[in-house]
Amino acid sequence: MIFSEKIEQLAIEAEATLAPQFKHIEAVAFQNTQKVMDAFRNHRVSDGMFQSTSGYGYDDRGREVLDEVWADVMGAEAAIVRHNIISGTQALSIGLFGLLRPGDVMYSVAGKPYDTLEEVIGIAGEPGNGSLKDFGIGYEMTELNSCGGFDFPAIEAKLRELGASCKMVFVQRSKGYLNRKTLSVAEIGELVRFVKNIRPETYVVVDNCYGEFVETEEPCAVGADLIIGSLIKNPGGGMAETGGYLAGTKRTVELASYRMTSIGIGAEAGATMGQNKPMYKGLFYAPHTTAQALKTAHLAAYVFEKLGYTVEPRWNEERHDIIQTVIMGNSEGLCAFCRGIQQGSPVDAFVTPEPWAMPGYSDPVIMAAGAFTQGSSIELSADGPLRPPYTAYFQGGLTYESGRIGILSAAQCVDELKN
Ligand SMILES: *Cc1c(COP(=O)(O)O)cnc(C)c1O
Repeated sequence: MIFSEKIEQLAIEAEATLAPQFKHIEAVAFQNTQKVMDAFRNHRVSDGMFQSTSGYGYDDRGREVLDEVWADVMGAEAAIVRHNIISGTQALSIGLFGLLRPGDVMYSVAGKPYDTLEEVIGIAGEPGNGSLKDFGIGYEMTELNSCGGFDFPAIEAKLRELGASCKMVFVQRSKGYLNRKTLSVAEIGELVRFVKNIRPETYVVVDNCYGEFVETEEPCAVGADLIIGSLIKNPGGGMAETGGYLAGTKRTVELASYRMTSIGIGAEAGATMGQNKPMYKGLFYAPHTTAQALKTAHLAAYVFEKLGYTVEPRWNEERHDIIQTVIMGNSEGLCAFCRGIQQGSPVDAFVTPEPWAMPGYSDPVIMAAGAFTQGSSIELSADGPLRPPYTAYFQGGLTYESGRIGILSAAQCVDELKN
């Protein structure tokens, strides 16, 4: 792929300027790799754990130890990591239905949760499908304040109003498809202390998607009761073929496991069918792969800001997830961005992405993904719903080198459109 002189120069300038940011990212990756390898060593991970099991999958040592390793790495008491959790949405669904009972309220304190949860909660979609709402579970929401932080006075008022019915405070760490800031682990820790001070019994549940390994601690380490994510994002390291995880206290993970399989069976069965090795290997790679994606995101922020776009976060801001947004302003810009990412991908580079009505999303979405694993967004990918201000959400990059190619390709496509 050949880039214009202007784009190539911009990249060289970006990399010189971003040296301190890159150094910080490498330091975090080193610390997280140490944490992962310590957990592997402490739990005596060995070759036999990569064996495949079938049927009930009883006594699958690889599965049991992976759960323990995962819990350690996440700073949790327990975890369930499964290849047959098909996506982040399913993992979240397991967590919500696992903890909430009729008459309870789920209280989202960082604005509206991710689009695909709307039908699960019952604030979108047909009644009768078995949403939380159908089961008599309430939903309340508070937006973040104008500075992008938690609105503590409003949260306190709502917690006191709801009383014991407020079973769960729900936080989405990452911005998802919203034009808002991503929350740091420290901010989530402050929220946990605040909530527990008012209602110690209320679970704090975190949608941890895209946040894993960006910092040196995960939300469980600051008191979150349950964190939930997808293995085709950060923690799968680009190696896991599919899957999801939940990590938290013994009790929340047990309740979630009953919903995942069956009450009484929980996490004690489930054939792994040869998927243990990619999941272990993925966790091993995850801190490094996340760092590659972060460097790619910083490069994108720098390049697109210089091309005159509003980006979030800015190139010199500290990051709490791997998502980079670029406000394209119109649908042509958003589509050009996605075309460029697609052309700069290792797989399906010849394909032209088109907007489509994706199940679970309320606006048409355009997606660029030239990934080895379908839908994997730890791999170079971009997407955005076709609604103003036509924000491109970019993430991933298995290697910085390939991420750089993708970003420069997007920059060139967008720049050609302008000229
Ligand atoms: C990706 C994501 C999810 C889950 O999405 P799936 O496509 O179902 O894996 C949930 N919340 C956030 C913030 C996400 O980024």
